[in-house]
Amino acid sequence: MKEVLEKSLTMDDRPGPVAIAGRDYPPIERKAATFDPKVLQLLLDGLHAEIRNSVKQLVSQPEFRYYDGTDVATYRKQVLAWTKRLAATGIGRVFMPRSLGGEENLPKFIAAFETLAFHDISLVIKLGVQFGLFAGSIQRLGTEYHHRKYLPDATSTALMGCFAMTEIGHGSNVQSLETIAVYQRENDYFVLHSPTYSAGKNYIGNAAEDGQLAVVFAQLEVNGQIHGVHAFLVPIRDGDGRPLPGVTIEDNGLKMGLNGVDNGQIWFDHVQVPRVEMLNRFADVTAGGHYRSGIQSQAARFFTMIGTLVSGRISIAATANSAAKSALTIAIRYAARRRQFGSPKAGRETLILDYPAHQRRLCPLVAKAFALDFALKHLIELNETVHAGNSRSLETLAAGLKAVTTWNATQTIQTCREACGGEGYLATNRISALKADTDIYTTFEGDNTVLMQLVAKNLLSEFKDRLKEMRPAQMAGFFIDQRLAALAKRNPRHTFNIRPGHLRDADFQITMFRFRESAALFSAAQEFHRLTSKKRLDQYAAFARMQRELLDLAHAHVERVILERFDQMIATVQVQSLKPVLKRLCDLFALSQIEFNKGWYLEHGALTGLKSRAVTREVDKLCREIRQEAVQLVDSFGIPDSCLAAPIAL
Ligand SMILES: Cc1cc2nc3c(=O)[nH]c(=O)nc-3n(C[C@H](O)[C@H](O)[C@H](O)COP(=O)(O)OP(=O)(O)OC[C@H]3O[C@@H](n4cnc5c(N)ncnc54)[C@H](O)[C@@H]3O)c2cc1C
Repeated sequence: MKEVLEKSLTMDDRPGPVAIAGRDYPPIERKAATFDPKVLQLLLDGLHAEIRNSVKQLVSQPEFRYYDGTDVATYRKQVLAWTKRLAATGIGRVFMPRSLGGEENLPKFIAAFETLAFHDISLVIKLGVQFGLFAGSIQRLGTEYHHRKYLPDATSTALMGCFAMTEIGHGSNVQSLETIAVYQRENDYFVLHSPTYSAGKNYIGNAAEDGQLAVVFAQLEVNGQIHGVHAFLVPIRDGDGRPLPGVTIEDNGLKMGLNGVDNGQIWFDHVQVPRVEMLNRFADVTAGGHYRSGIQSQAARFFTMIGTLVSGRISIAATANSAAKSALTIAIRYAARRRQFGSPKAGRETLILDYPAHQRRLCPLVAKAFALDFALKHLIELNETVHAGNSRSLETLAAGLKAVTTWNATQTIQTCREACGGEGYLATNRISALKADTDIYTTFEGDNTVLMQLVAKNLLSEFKDRLKEMRPAQMAGFFIDQRLAALAKRNPRHTFNIRPGHLRDADFQITMFRFRESAALFSAAQEFHRLTSKKRLDQYAAFARMQRELLDLAHAHVERVILERFDQMIATVQVQSLKPVLKRLCDLFALSQIEFNKGWYLEHGALTGLKSRAVTREVDKLCREIRQEAVQLVDSFGIPDSCLAAPIAL
């Protein structure tokens, strides 16, 4: 990845009708913008523009032309060849530990991955399985022996691997996996076994065809005692690609999308795994048959191990936002060239982007793509500053942003499909592939609904810890303060002020988001207290009973963080010319979220009917303003034409 692409691959102006694949499209109409899209692209590219440009240059080569057939076997072969081609550029060095000559630069690796998601999503996932999940778990859960033995080949793809966690019987509830690894002292190995059909590993990437070695998660049993889920390195195929003795593999077959990835199921029948092949960073078994771990509680150990894999969630969120950006680029550019209906006086039909309904559908989603981009940059920084595995705030934000970003991608892509009418449904215009391939993002790397409950539980635990540190007298004062703060936020100055300057004031917007979060936190904390002390439910039953409150809290928290990061970005951006457009985008994000949640704000007295209507009018106005430079805004995403490859958007 040495060559740097000097100039943008996307933003050439194209006068006159464009004839592509035998069809004539009128030109995309760009109005004058208040900013230079190339400058905004530099802000989005951030520190890692060089690797982003290298990836764009590579995937713009003819060998990366999309596979547009329907034969799964051919598609899988193509994606494998692309994966190996990418590995041959040395991209694995970015990821490898310094001790093995690598750069160990995760933010740079995520930037490459995020850029790759402008191209084929099967390739993104294949690479994600190989580098992020397989090599990543060896790096984070293993020790030097495993790093030296496996990482060079894993990152060059000479050794293809799997991350085999999910089972037929257990997906979200990983702590209850059934696969078992029993230590046998006399032979110094583990016997790995799937005791039931439902213990079979399921949906495992690289399992159906290419995987040779798997990181297998199983319950560890030593001297008859179960120590919880641990990871083991298990060879699954021989040099000729045949399953090894004791290993049964089934192909998951055709999927809704991602058909370039070979997902499969795996069962183990008393497979022997040498003791040293247990990934032993957090726990080990001695040759004498003793279990050792610096972390005493089984649950804490499990969450520490899983916590180290948080970068997978961050990467998935980043690539989901790239897919949303691709769909928005296609839909906005099409809307800036497609005309339907119009006043007879005008002499020609109206651009669909000039319809308020169209602006209302697309402009808030453009604003949200920017908002999420900045929030994800913050998360990536946080991941660097926090030592993996011991930060609850990192885990909380990664889970929350993964859920919100992937849900947003699904919603954005669907809206863009509709915004392109029938053209949006044609495979040649790419939205169908984006839709099919990213749909599962809301489920894998942690199901979103389950992740959002984790976010809320972590917030409640933090809240409890804060209370624990206080003496009773302080605590009473604290509650009174919080109540007063909440009441103050509902003061008439805020409630009746409908001036545009006030609605676009960051202070007002952030206060509204914080109010919703703190009210949700108090309400959830009170409900938990009521269920556990008055109703005497145990923790599991109480949380199960209050899922609605938990999800409300998680959404309010993540949205508040996103808004604050956007505001922070505007405050710190060096290029003054970008501030006005960023502020407009931030206002649109903030006010459309307040509008979306207006029922809640009205219920809680934080909005009056009058002010709620003023917010709606301001959102309309912001959509009109954003529409003026909507094409340049999506241009600034910097997506190569070869990746968009949608005739309606070129
Ligand atoms: C294409 C693809 C690739 C994958 N790749 C891999 C891989 O390489 N390696 C790997 O290990 N796994 C992989 N997975 C598995 C993936 O991580 C799981 O599908 C995911 O964790 C969800 O598990 P599940 O499918 O069993 O759903 P379940 O956990 O059964 O969830 C089903 C539904 O129940 C809901 N639900 C579950 N628990 C609760 C609760 N407590 N409260 C409320 N609602 C709840 C969920 O929200 C969801 O809607 C892959 C899956 C797919 C489809």
